[in-house]
Amino acid sequence: MQFHDSMISLVGNTPLVRLGSVTEGIRATVLAKVEYFNPGGSVKDRIALRMIEAAERSGELKPGGTIVEPTSGNTGVGLALVAQRKGYRCIFVCPDKVSTDKINVLRAYGAEVVVCPTAVDPEHPDSYYNVSDRLVRETPNAWKPDQYSNPNNPLSHYESTGPELWKQTDGRITHFVAGVGTGGTISGTGRYLKEVSDGRVQVVGADPEGSVYSGGSGRPYLVEGVGEDFWPEAYDRGVADEIVAVSDKDSFQMTRRLAREEGLLVGGSCGMAVVAALKVAERLGPDDVVVVLLPDSGRGYMSKIFSDEWMSSHGFLDEGEGEARVADVL
Ligand code: PMP
Repeated sequence: MQFHDSMISLVGNTPLVRLGSVTEGIRATVLAKVEYFNPGGSVKDRIALRMIEAAERSGELKPGGTIVEPTSGNTGVGLALVAQRKGYRCIFVCPDKVSTDKINVLRAYGAEVVVCPTAVDPEHPDSYYNVSDRLVRETPNAWKPDQYSNPNNPLSHYESTGPELWKQTDGRITHFVAGVGTGGTISGTGRYLKEVSDGRVQVVGADPEGSVYSGGSGRPYLVEGVGEDFWPEAYDRGVADEIVAVSDKDSFQMTRRLAREEGLLVGGSCGMAVVAALKVAERLGPDDVVVVLLPDSGRGYMSKIFSDEWMSSHGFLDEGEGEARVADVL
């Protein structure tokens, strides 16, 4: 019989897929590491598993304990998936701007979700930050993974994503491109690839225009999961050789092209990372192998990036795109 003992053993070992359409005119090979093949649908399953298992080993997470984390998205799904298997309770704290669909996904996996008002100061007792801190203090056997400062976040990529890429490309990878949120993916994967290649692999961060990593002050942008207005501990400032800033419009237009032309229904940070990867690949030759990591699936963004109304209301559709295409067909 061929089966997996649980969904947990399916974390990692995601495939590489060559991009063949959006790369027109580019001589380098551009490969996408498609992280939606993880059981929870995103790259964050990797860090969830490693953070939980490390906390079990150190005794910070005790049998029957409760995991409390301020997260609304992919990290919550990963934590909930691993926690239910191992018998932990999960409480996630989300701001009220998070869509009910995202909250319902977390609840579907068995997590409890506490929703906090966005329109209060960080010092207010009901703020997102204060509520999660209070829950940690007041819940017996509570443990907060804190993906922004937990060293097991980058370590999970040093031990899984990095070695997978080296093996899958037979050591031929020359450039690694990833969006930067907590910084865990780029720091862990980038460090491994630098070490194993004696510094040959170039590491490129993709960042929304306005975020700190590309020199901004935290100005708002709409791409989710990437960019910050502070410098997290999980980010190794020495790892990236280059940071490429990408606009929301370019990110979302590329996200839609990936679905339509490459069969890759992925999230907005994936489009952003691909824009940066193509910018790098344009100046490279046929022996170069660029790998770009695509963190999650597009299913969570149907009413935003994949809605013509939402895209045009933000000025992200060019003349003749979207509804005009429907008119052409009629
Ligand atoms: N894209 C998405 C959709 C994410 O949820 C995240 C994680 N915040 C990232 C990219 C960035 O990954 P990292 O936190 O490892 O920098």
